[in-house]
Amino acid sequence: MKRLFNFCAGPAAMPTAVLQKAQEELLNYQDLGMSVMEMSHRSTHYIEIASRAEQHLRQLMNIGDDYTVLFLQGGASLQFAGVPLNLLSGTADYLETGAWSKKAYQEAKRYDMLGTVNLVASGQDGHYTDVPDVGTWQVNDQADYFHYCSNETIHGVQITCPPKLDVPLVVDMSSDILSRPINVNDFGMIYAGAQKNIGPAGLTLVIIQKSLLGRAAAICPSVMNYSTQAAADSMLNTPASYAWYLAGLVFEWLLAQGGVETIAKLNQQKATLLYQAIDNSDFYDNRVKKHCRSLMNVPFQLADSTLEPLFLEQAQQAGLLNLQGHRAVGGMRASLYNAIGLDAVQALVSFMADFEKRYG
Ligand SMILES: *Cc1c(COP(=O)(O)O)cnc(C)c1O
Repeated sequence: MKRLFNFCAGPAAMPTAVLQKAQEELLNYQDLGMSVMEMSHRSTHYIEIASRAEQHLRQLMNIGDDYTVLFLQGGASLQFAGVPLNLLSGTADYLETGAWSKKAYQEAKRYDMLGTVNLVASGQDGHYTDVPDVGTWQVNDQADYFHYCSNETIHGVQITCPPKLDVPLVVDMSSDILSRPINVNDFGMIYAGAQKNIGPAGLTLVIIQKSLLGRAAAICPSVMNYSTQAAADSMLNTPASYAWYLAGLVFEWLLAQGGVETIAKLNQQKATLLYQAIDNSDFYDNRVKKHCRSLMNVPFQLADSTLEPLFLEQAQQAGLLNLQGHRAVGGMRASLYNAIGLDAVQALVSFMADFEKRYG
């Protein structure tokens, strides 16, 4: 059986070792005679799986007791509504650096009966190739929160250094959570859909400072209410139980790799290799400003865009899958999440050099 190199942006590649472990345990989990996906989420065995996953995540990210960790459903997109429904009562600030933070802003705008939703700056005029200069941001130091996206999965723009502001930072970390060390204490709330760097689709993590709980609007649906879910250990209703279990296996795998510090070094190495290949050639191009280039999602174009379908076709034949760019930006995109090894990037870079030799 051959697994190919899958550069999909999401749902993305999972570590093979995790899939093997899940396969071993699929039919009969620890001699219980059933699969994890067939277990009651109220059973002792399942609660053990769920809380172990949380403990491992806390260990990986060094999450303190003053933060609640929630395992929810609905994807990051539901949190675009969940954030204002739980936290907006006066004003909220939004920074727009790409398609996802724009969606988050637009969704929050729908709840402007709860408060004022303010766009502090947008990178749209520059086609999201740069983060707007901090000096131009129209921030409100009384805002309930400041929202941004740490890694724009479509445009390949990453903000590694959290803005220094006096209001709670709320960050969409869907595509770079666990890819590098962060200080959780810098944030009021972190959220992430699982299908990029955590596990399968269907699970969404929310990590929130306990002092921000208890502020939800009356109209907030109970399953979206962070306080209610915190009180119910994320089991107000049936959770995405199998996805939660698989996320737990990914956390164990990541700890065995040496944790976030170790994987961050590898991620840096992978991205450097690919950006160097792009920058050292006139045949390939990445338009994002170097200071904010994403280490996770690398969009690139061919100088001659008519060659792009051929590039994608031949890449696929070479076992390099899902390199097409998002339909909003076109071109190519390689997603280099934790489960992508250096060997995958080496194979991609050598394919690119070979393709350039033949068509450049
Ligand atoms: C994928 C992604 C989303 C949307 O996730 P869903 O789970 O499909 O709702 C939001 N934000 C970022 C940064 C993403 O990468």
